[in-house]
Amino acid sequence: MKHRIYVDNNATSKLRPFVKAAMMEAMDISGNPSSIHMDGQNARKLVENARKSIISSLGTFSAELIFTSGATEAAQLALESAKAMGFNLAFIGAGEHPAIMAYAKQLFENMIVIPIDANGNIDCDWLEERLAQAQNAGQKPFVAIQAANNEIGIINPLSKISGIVKNHGAALMVDAVQAFAKMPPQDYAGYADWLIISPHKIGGPLGVGALLLAPGIEGARNRPGGGQEKGLRSGTPNIPAIHGFGVASAMAGDVSDFAMKTSALRDKFEQEIMTQWPDAIIFGHAASRLPNTSCFAIPNWSAEHMVIALDLAGVSISSGSACSSGSVKASATILALKAPEQLAKCAVRVSFGWNNEATDVGKIIAAMQDADMRRRNAAA
Ligand code: PLP
Repeated sequence: MKHRIYVDNNATSKLRPFVKAAMMEAMDISGNPSSIHMDGQNARKLVENARKSIISSLGTFSAELIFTSGATEAAQLALESAKAMGFNLAFIGAGEHPAIMAYAKQLFENMIVIPIDANGNIDCDWLEERLAQAQNAGQKPFVAIQAANNEIGIINPLSKISGIVKNHGAALMVDAVQAFAKMPPQDYAGYADWLIISPHKIGGPLGVGALLLAPGIEGARNRPGGGQEKGLRSGTPNIPAIHGFGVASAMAGDVSDFAMKTSALRDKFEQEIMTQWPDAIIFGHAASRLPNTSCFAIPNWSAEHMVIALDLAGVSISSGSACSSGSVKASATILALKAPEQLAKCAVRVSFGWNNEATDVGKIIAAMQDADMRRRNAAA
């Protein structure tokens, strides 16, 4: 098969060889961690070691960690926990993943979307004003914010946001799925009352995630079953995936190699884009962004067409996340940045990962030039 270039790492990433090797070993363990015999205890040891490794990779965050089937389930357990604790007003960031946005809408009668500013960051002045009003009205609000956005990569100022949230007696849920092992943990972990992570964006396994609860936060006990995870998430755990998650978490503490490598690729890529297509728009260019993520639009070249043309040329990129469901709707996040709808429909994302090479940039640009020439010829 022709060598493909995979630059859709914010969707999911290639498993790292050392994680894969650890998971293969764990596949030979046949015990159920709830069993008291030695096989069960061997499985249990892997789960508990993974739990310790992940918590310690996040620095000083002294939390309880619940393993789940992924960040989607972790986010939903977090929302259920907030509801069970009596939080009755949900403030959800405009760019939040549907795992949070759609479920919060379903779960809370009172849900308000927090606008984002022209840079793509949470509008902190708006939030402060609305939290003050909620506090005065005797409501019990919580706020859900991404540490970093999956589409554009914009990093939210969690230190400032958490200050505002705490000043108004509210609580903070942080979706750190795109931040985990891409951003230093001190920039997101310690601010959260509920923290949501999964390892498959950084070379860890799919189908596993975690919810971390800060001291004082209670998980919801509304999922009956075998009572695993201290009764907070029933179900026999996926031992190889949990072990792989634990092993992969070694990368979360020091992200400098990942950041240096991927930002060099991303910056070179964006430079080439602006040279070849001077009318291109790079979303969030002036904001603080994840090192690996580039979201851009070339006017009049629809995202759908570009993604298909590059796929045929052996390059995997992604359009705005709204298109992942098969629709061609413009991304809500990019529209929230006040981009015109026509331009938002041209937005694509290139997200570099651990296995990309310096030569990939030139190859992607060449594939784009070729596809652009065909497109123009077809239109002529
Ligand atoms: N939150 C963000 C920011 C994401 O990017 C994703 C995955 O794309 C999720 C939540 C859901 O994660 P998972 O696929 O582990 O359920």
